[in-house]
Amino acid sequence: SDLFAPSSSASKRRSRGPVMAAKKAAEGAKQEDGKYKHTVDLPKTSFGLRANSVMREPELQKLWEENQVLKRVSERNTGATFTLHDGPPYANGDLHMGHALNKVLKDIINRYKLLQNHKVSFIPGWDCHGLPIELKVLKSMDKATLNALTPIRLRQKAAKFAKVTVNAQMNSFKRIGIWADWDSPYLTLSPEYEAAQLEVFGQMVMRGYIYRGRKPVHWSPSSRTALAEAELEYSENHVSKSIYAAFKITSPSSSGLLDEFLPNVCLAIWTTTPWTIPANAAVAVNPELSYAVVELQSVLESESTSGGKQQKLGSILSSGIEKPFIIVASDLVSVLESKWGVKLVIRKSFPGSVLEHCRYLHPVNGNECSVVIGGDYITTESGTGLVHTAPGHGQEDYLTGLKYGLPIVSPVDDEGNFTAEAGQFSGLSVLGAGNAAVVKYLDEHVSLILEEPYKHKYPYDWRSKEPTIFRATEQWFASVDGFRDAALDAIKRVTWVPSQGENRIVNMISGRSDWCISRQRTWGVPIPVFYHVDTQEPLITEETIEHIKAIVSEKGSDAWWYMKTEELLPDKYRDKASEYRKGTDTMDVWFDSGSSWAAVSAKRDGLNFPADVYLEGSDQHRGWFQSSLLTSIATTGKAPYSSVITHGFVLDKDGLKMSKSVGNVVDPEKVILGGKDSKVCSYRNLCYFLVLRSEISLNLVQKEPPYGADVLRLWVSSVDYTGDVLIGSEILRQMSDMYRKLRGTMRFLLANLHDWNPENSVPYSDLPKIDQYALFQLENVVASMKDSYDNYQFYKIYQTLQRFAIVGLSNFYFDVAKDRLYVGGRVSYTRKSCQTVLAAHLLYLVRAIAPIMPHLAEDIWQNLPFEHTLEDGSVAKFAFDLKWPDKNEEWCSVQKDDVDFLSVILELRSEVNKILENARTGKLIGASLDAKVYLHAENPDTVSKLKELASATNDADALHRLFITSQVEILPSLSEETTSGVSYAGKFSDPRTGEIWIGVTRADGMKCERCWVYTKDVGSFGDHPTLCSRCHGVIDLQPQASPAAAAVA
Ligand SMILES: [Zn+2]
Repeated sequence: SDLFAPSSSASKRRSRGPVMAAKKAAEGAKQEDGKYKHTVDLPKTSFGLRANSVMREPELQKLWEENQVLKRVSERNTGATFTLHDGPPYANGDLHMGHALNKVLKDIINRYKLLQNHKVSFIPGWDCHGLPIELKVLKSMDKATLNALTPIRLRQKAAKFAKVTVNAQMNSFKRIGIWADWDSPYLTLSPEYEAAQLEVFGQMVMRGYIYRGRKPVHWSPSSRTALAEAELEYSENHVSKSIYAAFKITSPSSSGLLDEFLPNVCLAIWTTTPWTIPANAAVAVNPELSYAVVELQSVLESESTSGGKQQKLGSILSSGIEKPFIIVASDLVSVLESKWGVKLVIRKSFPGSVLEHCRYLHPVNGNECSVVIGGDYITTESGTGLVHTAPGHGQEDYLTGLKYGLPIVSPVDDEGNFTAEAGQFSGLSVLGAGNAAVVKYLDEHVSLILEEPYKHKYPYDWRSKEPTIFRATEQWFASVDGFRDAALDAIKRVTWVPSQGENRIVNMISGRSDWCISRQRTWGVPIPVFYHVDTQEPLITEETIEHIKAIVSEKGSDAWWYMKTEELLPDKYRDKASEYRKGTDTMDVWFDSGSSWAAVSAKRDGLNFPADVYLEGSDQHRGWFQSSLLTSIATTGKAPYSSVITHGFVLDKDGLKMSKSVGNVVDPEKVILGGKDSKVCSYRNLCYFLVLRSEISLNLVQKEPPYGADVLRLWVSSVDYTGDVLIGSEILRQMSDMYRKLRGTMRFLLANLHDWNPENSVPYSDLPKIDQYALFQLENVVASMKDSYDNYQFYKIYQTLQRFAIVGLSNFYFDVAKDRLYVGGRVSYTRKSCQTVLAAHLLYLVRAIAPIMPHLAEDIWQNLPFEHTLEDGSVAKFAFDLKWPDKNEEWCSVQKDDVDFLSVILELRSEVNKILENARTGKLIGASLDAKVYLHAENPDTVSKLKELASATNDADALHRLFITSQVEILPSLSEETTSGVSYAGKFSDPRTGEIWIGVTRADGMKCERCWVYTKDVGSFGDHPTLCSRCHGVIDLQPQASPAAAAVA
């Protein structure tokens, strides 16, 4: 087969004559017509047909590392500094496809910016603190170790675990070919990082943005810590015990309103968390809704099971008890009638506002409480329209409580058990026995209307997978209200890619409450605060923070645990050290990673602050993008980034989430290195035979073949990452196929430039029209790829490469070029002009693919058969020594007329090829060179243009060369006489040319032994009777080469 094969199969059949002849000769086959084989310029290159990525990619990576290519290129570049600030992956576990997608996207951008003459320094980061690592370390310990565990020992183990993980992930990133400053990454556990974080915290304290408050927070009893929103997972199938309960009114708000119903009138409430009833502080109503006093007339026995068997009627509905009047929202009367299985008769209606300040009896502790006005959150979609309000256990309740000065009661401890404050429930778990006990208590005290299971969305601890609760605790908060407007303002000045990202983060910032930044865990950066032993007053001043920061920057945050309070306090407080104790809270890990701008981009040399780009998964709008924005706005007044790019998640081929239990996980390491038991298809012998013959790639016969990093990277470029992206074995096979073809294209270029010397370049103005046309196309394609890189739309580059570098070039320019390259004559104008065009393609394409497939680009460069001199006169030793090409105005200067006509000719050529194919099927011809093509057009303009091309003397533009036939004749008319010998004919029609008639016959004259083109002059040279005049001229000029050198290596 043709080893230099970026060709369509049709063109292979047509034009490989001389190549095959010489190849057979090189293989020692007896070749009758091999007399001129050594005069044929066959392609040759050391650049392999196969990538052999498993071996070759690490070699190239070593080459870059040993020669410090990234550092050198970045230092040499004279453009502006470009900073893509790395979002730190969590140092926990192996890399998954999401990591690979993320880092490859970053690498594509960084490498492109290098080509664009920017100074680029990419500092990789890792998030090292936090609960998941702490839990992993705890799980690895036996009971004896756990019992003897001290915080400092736990921290040491956690640090070790994180560092080992960082190292493993770093090696995986390197293998994918990510260029970064691997020698100085940022780790959130490093002393300098921790000190920078304390600096951010200190500045927020000084600006008054940090406060300690009692506030309901998401609390995980299973992990015994507060959780941030980002640490929650919402389960859709959580079933709560919901109850309708009645609280007895003691005094109405305005006289007369409820007099007729006293003393037996109740407020009906509904809750899915009965355990919060002991903490009840008020009942809230919506002033805009209408409420009604209803009479419970008769229990409709037959319908009492309408809600299903799981319903349990409360004592209020049981017989033998005098029924109270009940207040509910008017709109809900009929719903509740059927739910409770009673007849509800409306006795009086009024707006909710009149209920404000009504007093009722607390159902558990017997205190008097008030009805209050709540907000829009009170609706008639469910419940009763009256909301049980426990400010210690709910966000909206808390806000309503603030408005009315209600007590923030939360009689629940760290493990989720009732405290002594909860009286008889003390010690019971609120998510278990405690909940049931409250319901039972209400029932026994005739406060329960109905109990039923209720399925709804409920927050779970993302790590322990256990349900969480809302619980008021003493916590440290960052007051988002203090800088919310500034944050919203800054968001407007950031570029969001895709643009929907802006709305997402605006909604999250405008709706968010204060940021709870304290955690009751050990593995993190301490909240640098002391508490007075007697008063519990916190001590946190500029001096104490500065002092601790200095200690941490030197010794790391472990010092907080192993140093004494008196050492941690500044001089001023030292003699009072015995009055203070250290706090034990650590900071939310989002505060760690959210301070990375301060520890890295704003601190290290050679980086921009704000960073030019942040690029992470779209879930980071509520995570890192947000925490980084908040800390930066609070302390510097500006966003830490100029633009934010988000990508979706990696799903399996069917769009499903990858999971180990489903077995659909695509592991990036396996994609690169191949699976361990890569199975071979059942036709293995045939397959291997074909592999050996280079007919198919080895990748096609293995189940989990080693594709190499560049195929993985090519996949990253191929997807529209702004949404979720798919990957699977079939997709990877397509990528591998695309890679192989692209490699073939580049190999064709390298191999036909084996004797190229840039000094031989033909000046642009002297190039044949089709060469000028090819350069025009190239310039346009590269300009469109630049556009796509600039807009971070890499999938468009992938598509362009496929259309242009694989299909377009092979189908036309390369196909036509073979004649000029192989038999045109080594020193001929026609070969040199063609090589001028090929060299331009090589130099442009290698740059265009380098950000996406850096290994392929470097492999090409290391096999470059000529030296490429840079503007400064030095020779480019590595692909990234090159810069992105400037716009070539000359190449764009082709006349529009010529461009138009050549594109018509290409369409005409496709039509001609169809007729040639018919003639071949009909056995009139074998190769297309056996044919002569006749054209006839009526349009005089078309006729003259065709005639011009048909008679082109530069050999490259001639129509028969473009068609790869031996002759083309333009017929002045169509008549019996002119078309009598034509047995294959067809028509081409286009508005630009009018109709063109096409006919095919066998070629005139005899076949030249060397170029296989038929001419009438074959036989007219006595010294070489089997040659045409072109070949006769060529071999006279051809330097004598040995047959071996002419053959394919
Ligand atoms: Zn010839």
